[in-house]
Amino acid sequence: MLKIGITGNIGSGKTMVSKLFELLGIPVFYADVAAKDAMVTDAVLIAGVKEAFSNEAYLPDGALNRKYIANIVFNDDAQLARLNALTHPAVFRAFDAWVAGIKDAPYVIKEAALLFESTSYKMCDYSLLVTAPLKERIARVTKRDGITREQVEAREAKQFTEDKKRQLTDYLIANDETELLIPQVLNLHQKFLQLATR
Ligand code: ATP
Repeated sequence: MLKIGITGNIGSGKTMVSKLFELLGIPVFYADVAAKDAMVTDAVLIAGVKEAFSNEAYLPDGALNRKYIANIVFNDDAQLARLNALTHPAVFRAFDAWVAGIKDAPYVIKEAALLFESTSYKMCDYSLLVTAPLKERIARVTKRDGITREQVEAREAKQFTEDKKRQLTDYLIANDETELLIPQVLNLHQKFLQLATR
């Protein structure tokens, strides 16, 4: 099964682009959703998180103690890296299981904010980067999430720069005012259908 990884920095529109591929009938795996799910369902991950951050990481009912974890990782990049190192393999496992269950699609998509940072692009056949100027991305996310420009910039600073990702990606979609989005998606869909028959 051909696997395409879609990514883009905060507010680039990678989720919007992924939804357009879904409209074309392509199954999409959302890594961020899978990560949240794995935190409360993947036994290996749960054990790892408890070992790394203590049993307090989970509430008595088994739910993740988000406040506790957020306090630990928010201003400490080393702890965040530790949490990511536990989470990423769990998401890889979930993706493999999900792909194994898909029988009748020409190709599948993995949408992941940290596709390059987590190295999961290496497990995809091709990567697709959605880009937009920082100014535009800040405007979208402040509107969508009701947060400040500084909060968006702080999240942006935790990701690889868009320039770095441009060097790593196979395909690009410009989700800005310069090019129409849907024709770009349709073009790439045709390309991926061709690649899937090779
Ligand atoms: P994040 O990494 O923060 O989850 P994302 O890359 O998944 O962001 P989306 O959630 O798809 O981005 O888009 C961010 C916001 O910008 C959404 O509210 C979306 O509706 C809006 N948006 C996306 N593309 C455009 C566009 N071309 N024009 C206007 N608004 C857009």
